[in-house]
Amino acid sequence: MIKVMKMKRLLAIGLTTIIIACSGSENSQVQNQECFSTGEKTIKWTMVTTWPKNFPGLGMGPENFSDYVNEMTCGRMQIKVYGAGEFVPALGVFDAVSQGNVQLGHGASYYWTGKVKSSQFFTAVPFGLTAQEMNGWLNYGGGMELWEEAYAPFNLIPLAGGNSGVQMAGWFKKEINSLKDLKGLKMRIPGLAGEVFTRAGAETVTLPGNEIFLSLQQGVIDAAEWVGPYNDLTFGFHQVADYYYYPGWHEPGSTLEIIINKDAYESLPKDLKAIIKYAAKSANQEMLDEYTARNNKALTELIDKHDVDLRKLPDSVLRELKKITDDVMQDFIQDDPMAQKVYKSYKEFKEQVINYHRISEKAYIDTRELD
Ligand code: CA
Repeated sequence: MIKVMKMKRLLAIGLTTIIIACSGSENSQVQNQECFSTGEKTIKWTMVTTWPKNFPGLGMGPENFSDYVNEMTCGRMQIKVYGAGEFVPALGVFDAVSQGNVQLGHGASYYWTGKVKSSQFFTAVPFGLTAQEMNGWLNYGGGMELWEEAYAPFNLIPLAGGNSGVQMAGWFKKEINSLKDLKGLKMRIPGLAGEVFTRAGAETVTLPGNEIFLSLQQGVIDAAEWVGPYNDLTFGFHQVADYYYYPGWHEPGSTLEIIINKDAYESLPKDLKAIIKYAAKSANQEMLDEYTARNNKALTELIDKHDVDLRKLPDSVLRELKKITDDVMQDFIQDDPMAQKVYKSYKEFKEQVINYHRISEKAYIDTRELD
């Protein structure tokens, strides 16, 4: 209580000082100053990413985060962002930050399921949570605490650092009318969804984004999922596949991550720790906003200008994929207590959030579509 009162008094004194400072003409120097915090040592950090440098959408997550930190600290903390392969390869990000070779990383946690099985849940799960629901689970449903627990043995602190929203099911060279059409289909689709497709009879591969176009063009693969219209248009997949299927059952709201080396984080003063946290929150929201604003324009261009054949996956196919997903999930968590713990939390949150979203988000969107 005394502490609070002292705080209030200090705040009051501080405010009075600012008011006096801003009202006196002799204090114009203070008014014109860009920042209150000057003359301190500049902290320079390095951030490695799993994306090509300045890649639209996904790659803007780390760039925005770096800009926000720079702006909020008035240049007192500067973060240099390296694209995939510039400092470490895309899939070397986790180890580089964990080992303290760099302080920060940006990527997608499900790239690390080979090291941390439960990391799958912090990006996306087939038929799982949307972007809005993911943020709810992470910030108010215990998800963030579990993510911290999962990464603690690797000396890493995770933060949500972007979201794609619901993705597209992907690009296909032939029509998908039934589950039979997936038999023998060679598709780029990573993670748990890849396992679901494999069990449905497809041959799946994981390729980095920049190898997808050529693989489709040369017939190495018959289909590929990447993100959504805004990102897919950039890669030009419409030039090598005719059918663009929705919805993105496999990635309904992929969260991207910012990872911080724990020792580096602990060495920061309290205000910079807070700035990092809130810069990540802003970057997380900003990416979703950008996709929300840009996806439809790109989709319209794909259809009107490039004659893309937009199709919905038949409900019968989606129903089968959902059934297979349930089996895949059970096998996936079987031997990993942490994955079981995270899945339990994720599943419980999903059940309760679906209950309300059925009569709110879904009911409203259905209502908006009425003639
Ligand atoms: Ca994807």
